[in-house]
Amino acid sequence: MTKFIFVTGGVLSSLGKGIAAASIGNLMEARGLSVTFQKLDPYVNVDPGTMSPYQHGEVYVTRDGAETDLDLGHYERFTTVRLGKNSNYTTGRIYNSVITKERRGDYLGGTVQVIPHITDEIKNGIHEGAKGPDGRGVDVAIVEIGGTVGDIESLPFLEAIRQFPFEVGRENVAYCHVTLVPYIKVAGEIKTKPTQHSVTKLREIGIMPDVLLCRAEIPVPEAMKQKIALFCNVEPNGVITALDVGNIYEVPLALHEEGLDSILVKRLGLKCHEPDLEPWRKVVEAMNHRTETVNIALVGKYVELREAYKSLCEALSHGGIPGGIQVNLSWVDAGDLTGPGGAEAGLAEADGILVPGGFGERGISGKIEAIRYARENGVPFFGICLGMQCAVIESARNLAGLEKAHSAEFEPGSPDPVIHFMEGQSETGDKGGTMRLGAYDCRLAPGSLAEKTYGTTFVSERHRHRLEFNNAYRERLEAVGLRISGTSPDDTLVEIVERPDHPWFLAVQFHPEFQSSPASPHPVFTGFVEAALRRKKGEA
Ligand code: GLN
Repeated sequence: MTKFIFVTGGVLSSLGKGIAAASIGNLMEARGLSVTFQKLDPYVNVDPGTMSPYQHGEVYVTRDGAETDLDLGHYERFTTVRLGKNSNYTTGRIYNSVITKERRGDYLGGTVQVIPHITDEIKNGIHEGAKGPDGRGVDVAIVEIGGTVGDIESLPFLEAIRQFPFEVGRENVAYCHVTLVPYIKVAGEIKTKPTQHSVTKLREIGIMPDVLLCRAEIPVPEAMKQKIALFCNVEPNGVITALDVGNIYEVPLALHEEGLDSILVKRLGLKCHEPDLEPWRKVVEAMNHRTETVNIALVGKYVELREAYKSLCEALSHGGIPGGIQVNLSWVDAGDLTGPGGAEAGLAEADGILVPGGFGERGISGKIEAIRYARENGVPFFGICLGMQCAVIESARNLAGLEKAHSAEFEPGSPDPVIHFMEGQSETGDKGGTMRLGAYDCRLAPGSLAEKTYGTTFVSERHRHRLEFNNAYRERLEAVGLRISGTSPDDTLVEIVERPDHPWFLAVQFHPEFQSSPASPHPVFTGFVEAALRRKKGEA
């Protein structure tokens, strides 16, 4: 029987509910249990794919091609779980499917049933995502509800999880509520009232939390815990301090110290051993003790919005773990690099330059300038998705003499569309979920930097884009030193380009950042960060 842990949040957003859910998964895996996750988001979009990063932050792509909430990235980075389409539901997706069913006649003679549908999606989603790497069923499903208790939008999801014990038995369900215990400096004390109010809200809906994760700047003293327990109707050992920590990957260790996993195991009657936290502790220690540093310039247009590059920032940090390298990121607005000497001035301090994925024309010329600067000056360069497309445009314009080369995304009438819409894609069709999405295989050229970096000739990486390298320009671009070092197995799609005349220049059409975790840093990020260190030390 799968056990369910529902994670809700109160008082305010950004309390780290996603990290808390991911940490619970981490601790359960450390106890030898197989886990999975689901995120239920209250907004009405079917998925975040059509939202702006300003509204939503990063869109995380699963290997089966779902465009999902960035919390799924935390779940995958904290555990060995690989999630999919049924790991993220939104209100819009729920209504979309019940209305489709209604039109089909599934509810003939009655009214549309939303709550049972949500319940089914929770059970089915868990069931389908249920097979761990070894094919066995899931012991623990962790279901996070987006938003804050008290929001009207999340009510259907909360009602569904309230009813859930009637489906599976109360003994198979635990409710975890993440709340805030603020420290009031002038009074020199911490306050329990916001937590009391938040739990009251939850109980109005009919949910009695089993565990309260109290985000706090200082440890919640025992007497305060007793008080919270009494007023919130939670067992005293169910009141857990979720202390602020310097490194998010320390959270599972900190929550374990507070006894979180034992209380959940007890509450759910899980049969498992004590957690083996040694491997994770080693990962965290390696992250916290780095002796070298490199400066990486991230050239983009959403630079003021770090949430939009969540997985990327994490992957860069992971990339430095094996070599003990601290990665200092500087966020460079592509708009500042245009004009003569713009890139030279804006990137002078960079040991490595990264142009990430993106959409829309703003910032393109600055990104191309950044790539020219990296290419001419031997600065390690890593291009991702749009960054790869810009690298192709840069070589076409500045080396192959195709001055007007461009991407058809930005200039439909370009005489040299070196990046164009792939077959079946267009600028005019439906926008939701229609890009090339999810994991595709890629073959690497023997002897290339790509092959050396991955240490293999065959990889699978996740995609999220509409346009592709235009094969009509392969020869002309190869003639000016751009090596096509990764393609689809049938050789029809260009996946990786590199420059053999450069110390480290690699650009990929996919998003490797979605497959990096601190326990298993992605080799391309490691390769890039280590090349930046060699550059810094004057070794390359
Ligand atoms: N806008 C480009 C495309 O759709 C790149 C997308 C991306 O960088 N994720 O192909």
